Amino acid sequence: MNLAIDAGGTNLRAQIWHNDNFIAATEAKSGSIGLYSWIETLLAKYREIKTIGISFAGQVEDGRIISAPNILVDEHNIRERVESKYGVTLKIENDLNCAVLAEAKEFGVQNICALYVGTGLGLGAMDGGRVIKGFKNVATEIGHIPYKKTPLKCGCSRDNCLELYASGSGIAKQIEHKRVSCGTTLKELERAGEIEIVELFQEALLVAAGTTLTLFNPQVLVLGGGIIEANPYLEEFILKNIKDYALSNSLEGVKICKSRLQNASLGGALLLKDFDD
Ligand SMILES: [Zn+2]
Repeated sequence: MNLAIDAGGTNLRAQIWHNDNFIAATEAKSGSIGLYSWIETLLAKYREIKTIGISFAGQVEDGRIISAPNILVDEHNIRERVESKYGVTLKIENDLNCAVLAEAKEFGVQNICALYVGTGLGLGAMDGGRVIKGFKNVATEIGHIPYKKTPLKCGCSRDNCLELYASGSGIAKQIEHKRVSCGTTLKELERAGEIEIVELFQEALLVAAGTTLTLFNPQVLVLGGGIIEANPYLEEFILKNIKDYALSNSLEGVKICKSRLQNASLGGALLLKDFDD
């Protein structure tokens, strides 16, 4: 049996599979139980689990959890601890790296980028079938590319990150700073006349998409995450305006479209067992 876990900032979601057969799904709140303890409860219940794949919304390196803003971590050295105690194989990878594995399978391509816009701004990039990870597994952190100075502070402690404009958390910070009393969705902002925040978001999104295309030259650029799902017009918006934000050669033959997957991170966690670290 294979256990796939999507450890996100709000929920821990798990699926148990036996070969290609779905067995069960379960979930818990991310702050309510430590990830290691939760895995132990699942291993106690499903004793035939042999492999575990974890998509993790935070920084990981070599089977260790380095940082996790919103997930309760009761064991940082998670791979070694679980493998030595239970005799299973565990792989843990950043959530966007997992998402791009699932998207690559969905589109049947090996050169693909997944740009996800939700609470944060995240990117997974696959080149020739390999996920680009970098020396310390922090490659493709597009949300923290220096962009424009703001009076706001990013989670990484700087004040000029792309994520401060092109993400849900960035929008929320701008609303708080401007002391605007309205909802935080793009539609609510438009209704409240806060067009500037919406336009700053849209431009930063184009910069993120254009930078991704220019740097990685993918065959497919797939757009996902809560803000993309809630605002389907953004796909058309990017297609219409991207030529001013990307190297023209990188646009030749590229397919830019929304994700078709319900939970790409979880799907990617299930695929981790088939990929080298
Ligand atoms: Zn940052």
